[in-house]
Amino acid sequence: ILQVSSKVKSSPTWYSASSFSSSVPTVKLFIGGKFVESKSDKWIDIHNPATNEVIGRVPQATKAEMDAAIASCKRAFPAWADTSVLSRQQVLLRYQQLIKENLKEIAKLITLEQGKTLADAEGDVFRGLQVVEHACSVTSLMMGETMPSITKDMDLYSYRLPLGVCAGIAPFNFPAMIPLWMFPMAMVCGNTFLMKPSERVPGATMLLAKLLQDSGAPDGTLNIIHGQHEAVNFICDHPDIKAISFVGSNKAGEYIFERGSRHGKRVQANMGAKNHGVVMPDANKENTLNQLVGAAFGAAGQRCMALSTAVLVGEAKKWLPELVERAKNLRVNAGDQPGADLGPLITPQAKERVCNLIDSGTKEGASILLDGRKIKVKGYENGNFVGPTIISNVKPNMTCYKEEIFGPVLVVLETETLDEAIQIVNNNPYGNGTAIFTTNGATARKYAHLVDVGQVGVNVPIPVPLPMFSFTGSRSSFRGDTNFYGKQGIQFYTQLKTITSQWKEEDATLSSPAVVMPT
Ligand code: NAD
Repeated sequence: ILQVSSKVKSSPTWYSASSFSSSVPTVKLFIGGKFVESKSDKWIDIHNPATNEVIGRVPQATKAEMDAAIASCKRAFPAWADTSVLSRQQVLLRYQQLIKENLKEIAKLITLEQGKTLADAEGDVFRGLQVVEHACSVTSLMMGETMPSITKDMDLYSYRLPLGVCAGIAPFNFPAMIPLWMFPMAMVCGNTFLMKPSERVPGATMLLAKLLQDSGAPDGTLNIIHGQHEAVNFICDHPDIKAISFVGSNKAGEYIFERGSRHGKRVQANMGAKNHGVVMPDANKENTLNQLVGAAFGAAGQRCMALSTAVLVGEAKKWLPELVERAKNLRVNAGDQPGADLGPLITPQAKERVCNLIDSGTKEGASILLDGRKIKVKGYENGNFVGPTIISNVKPNMTCYKEEIFGPVLVVLETETLDEAIQIVNNNPYGNGTAIFTTNGATARKYAHLVDVGQVGVNVPIPVPLPMFSFTGSRSSFRGDTNFYGKQGIQFYTQLKTITSQWKEEDATLSSPAVVMPT
């Protein structure tokens, strides 16, 4: 990590030794193909979550800078949209290679700013890389449709065309994967893109922008601004932005969906989650307990697909002590330390919030079987660490069940039957991900068909779809009608134009005006 810090301070073009009143490096904006220092007088500190040291500052871009970024996207659009699809594909093919070559560097930046373990950060980059690889299939994905001879000498065909300038607003928890869900798909379709990364973890996005430039993306096709509410409002309101991709919390997502839609934009918003793992008594016990522990506590529970709720059905409730034993064995440490299984939470406020939700469980009658609130990590006493925590005897009306905790906390409910478990899952307002653990195919099938959840795993704890499919989400976990990546991602970033065309061999001159509706 120290190595990354010193490197970040000295070399990269997207960070600079600060002209600011301290020695902390500042993150640049990316406008018109140049990494530029912001003239803003409003800056946000970036912390290493393992130490809480300030490691950088990110600007809240000024109105003039945001206007310049949009103007750059707008200027670059006509030529980029007119660039042959094969040439756009070539840029993406070079990009996926550069991401592979720099995967470890990107991962180090993620660990530094976000806190997750290096191995997990590499997974973050890798899952984004898969979307870039998928975007390379644009030549098939972007094809329109044709219907010859719809009447005499007349053919009908459609094109998928880019929308114009699109924008993305990303969360802190996947600093590489989620921006990579957005701009590569949009840009390969011929759109230009304005990206606003999370102000807490901008480093990975900046390096990804540099690599995209090195891959041959023309100046202005990707622009990056930084900031919080003002930047978000700017994106929602600007008339030149045609579509917004958002991933993050419900509070922000619902606001952005409504404000962006009001201004006539397409908006897709992936939001919060409360993912249930239903454990049937016939499940493979060893496998299931390991899967549950990994999916509940990996990335310190800061994944939208974290399996944060276990529903133990019938005799499976007897496995609880073993579940606790396995969770106890996880090693909590700074993300760059060898052997770390989970790192810190993103901020002290996030830690406080998670601890308060654990407290609420005690107050409302649940039992804390494993308590990570007081954990101390040697050498990292100022970090935002919470150890694996398991709360049992949880009922659906308790706060720790109703709220998305977004920390290393597994809440456990018990039911007698599968039907009761399904009812619990479907009564929860969120519908992001879920998993069932069973050795019975009919049970698995019934569950997969009856739960109203976007991503369902059968003996797979974190069923994030590969990019040839789409990442979905049901009920409060998603707003919009077209999902991220897969075929739907292409639909989101394109509009259809249909052409009805008649070429007659004989003389086509009409003898009188055709005033009746053509049939
Ligand atoms: P967040 O909503 O706080 O931030 C996301 C983005 O929105 C950031 O760029 C931020 O600057 C902006 N933002 C934050 N508050 C805002 C507000 N009030 N108004 C306007 N803009 C605002 O989310 P986060 O804490 O960075 O990420 C964690 C959340 O993201 C969790 O709820 C998690 O479930 C969700 N998430 C969902 C998915 C999914 O695919 N469903 C994936 C990853 C994360």
